[in-house]
Amino acid sequence: MRLALRLAALTLLASACRHAPAGELSPDTRAARLLADIAYLADDRLEGRGTGTAGNDSAAAWLARRHAALGLRPLATDTARPGCLATPAPASCRSFLQRFTARGAELSHAGRPEGVPTQNVIALVPGRDPALAGEVVVIGAHFDHLGRSPASAMDPEAKDAIRNGADDNASGTAAALELARTFAARPARRSILIAHFTGEELGLLGSQWLVEHSPVATDSITAMINFDMVGRLRADHLIVYGTGTAAELPGILERANDGTGLRLSSVADGFGPSDHSSFYAKGIPVLHFFTDLHDDYHRATDDVERINVEGEARIVALAERVVRSIADAPARLTVRRAEAPVASMSAGQGSSVYLGTIPDMSAGDAPGLRLTGVRAGSPADVAGLRAGDVIVVLGGVAVKDLYSYSSALYAHQPGEKVSIGFLRAGQPHAVTVTLGRRGG
Ligand SMILES: [Zn+2]
Repeated sequence: MRLALRLAALTLLASACRHAPAGELSPDTRAARLLADIAYLADDRLEGRGTGTAGNDSAAAWLARRHAALGLRPLATDTARPGCLATPAPASCRSFLQRFTARGAELSHAGRPEGVPTQNVIALVPGRDPALAGEVVVIGAHFDHLGRSPASAMDPEAKDAIRNGADDNASGTAAALELARTFAARPARRSILIAHFTGEELGLLGSQWLVEHSPVATDSITAMINFDMVGRLRADHLIVYGTGTAAELPGILERANDGTGLRLSSVADGFGPSDHSSFYAKGIPVLHFFTDLHDDYHRATDDVERINVEGEARIVALAERVVRSIADAPARLTVRRAEAPVASMSAGQGSSVYLGTIPDMSAGDAPGLRLTGVRAGSPADVAGLRAGDVIVVLGGVAVKDLYSYSSALYAHQPGEKVSIGFLRAGQPHAVTVTLGRRGG
C-alpha cells in the first residue's frame, strides 16, 4: 500500500463528507476503508490473485483474518487440517476457507485438466430475529483475477505482466467486506452470508462450487446480491442486473435509491457474466451491481489509482439499504423467471445463431456440455432443454466440451432445424430445435 495514496485518499474524502445522509457510516471512514482494501488487494505483491497461485491464496487468508476480526461465524470445514476429513468434523475444524480443486474447460485448455487447489472464503452474520435467522441473504464478490496469465487478457501483448484487477474485482471484494463490517455492527433480521469467490475468471468456478456444496440449504437463500466491478462510477451511472428475478426487486431498488443521485439502468435478466448466474440457475433471486466496462478492463492498467472510491461508497450505501429491506422484510421475495434479453452478437464471434443455453463451465471430465440453465423463452427453452442436461450431440456432431459445442453450433444458420442429443439423469434423449438469431 503506497503512503502517497493514503494521504490522497484522505484529502479527497474531506470534500465528500458534506453529502452523507444521517444515520449511515460517515463517508469519510467508509470510503477510506474501501480504498485501503482495494489498494491492498490490487498491490503487485498479490500478483493479480490468479486462481491456484500464491497471490490468490494470500488474498483468501487475508479475507479470512478480516472476517475473524469482525467476529463473523466460519461455515466451512478446513479439509486441509489433520483430523478434519471425518464427518461430522469436530468444531475445531471450522474455517472461513471452503477449499476445493477447481476444474473446468479453461483450465483443461490451459493444460491443467487435473485442476488447481483453491478456496472460496465464506462467513456468516447471524440474523437477530430467531423467527427469520434461518433464512439467508448472500452478499457475494469474486476476489480472483487474471494473475500473470495473458489467457483472457485484453492486452496479450503485455504477456505475463501483473494484472492487478483493482476494479475487477478488488472493488467488489472491498464492497462485500465493508457490508460485512456494517451488518456485523447492526445485524439484520435474516442472516447474511458473505461469499468471496475464487475461479470466476475461469468460468464462475468458485460460485458454482459453493451452490453445489452450500454450507446452508439453498432453499433457505432468499436472495443473492453480487458486486463485480463497482469501482469506476462515471456520471452517476450504475447498472443493476436481475431486477426481473423477483416481483419486489424493482420497488425495493427504487425506494433504496431515493435521494442518492445515482442513475440506475436496470436489466431484468438474472443470467450474466458473473457469479450471480450460479445462484439464479438455482432459482434464487439475484441482483448484480456493475459500473460498466472501461478501457482498462482485463488490462495491466486496471490499477487502484483509477478507482472512484467516493462513487463506490455511494453504491455501498445503496446496497446496504437494498439488503436491509430484503433481510428485514416480513416475507420472502416472490421468485420470478426473468425474460432474457435477445442476446448480443458477442458470444459467437461472427455467427448470429442463437440457442440460449447457459453452459456449466465447471463441468469435470465427463464428455459433453452440462447446462447450468437455459434462458427463458430461448430456442433451447422452447425445445425443453433444462438445467442439468448434458448435450452430447449437436447436428450430428459429437460434443465433448464447450469448444466442440461452440464449433458445432456456429456451423449452423439462424432458422435451421437441428437435432440435439443429450443425457438427462444419465438417460439418452433427443430433441429438434429451430435455431434463433442473435441481435434479431
Ligand atoms: Zn470480474
